[in-house]
Amino acid sequence: MAQDKIEKPEKEWKKVLTSEQYHVLRQKGTERPFSGDLYYNKEKGVYTCAACGQELFSSDTKFESGTGWPSFSDVIASDKVRLQEDTSHFMRRVEVVCSRCGGHLGHVFDDGPKPTGKRFCINAVSLDFKKKPE
Ligand code: FE
Repeated sequence: MAQDKIEKPEKEWKKVLTSEQYHVLRQKGTERPFSGDLYYNKEKGVYTCAACGQELFSSDTKFESGTGWPSFSDVIASDKVRLQEDTSHFMRRVEVVCSRCGGHLGHVFDDGPKPTGKRFCINAVSLDFKKKPE
């Protein structure tokens, strides 16, 4: 079930996000590959939106893509993200956005592992991680 949408003026986001989070989540930036700790994270748990806390990806779908960005084969539930065409940088890509706060997460590609065949290529800085209780 989708939670209530969050809308804030950009200056409010600027107050609650780090400058790197703001650059990626609100200005559709891209972090340097291999720069985020969560790229290497192998613990069981749930990845949430760093801006609004919505649950986005399960560790069960995380895989090693070799790209330097956290990669997932699926979303925890399809209504947690919005997919939209992105034609910036002379490419045609599908942007992945948090459905609750509109924050930019990354892009999705069709070269992921089975069964979905999807590769959600997500900026680590856009994510937080909630470890599953033992
Ligand atoms: Fe969000």
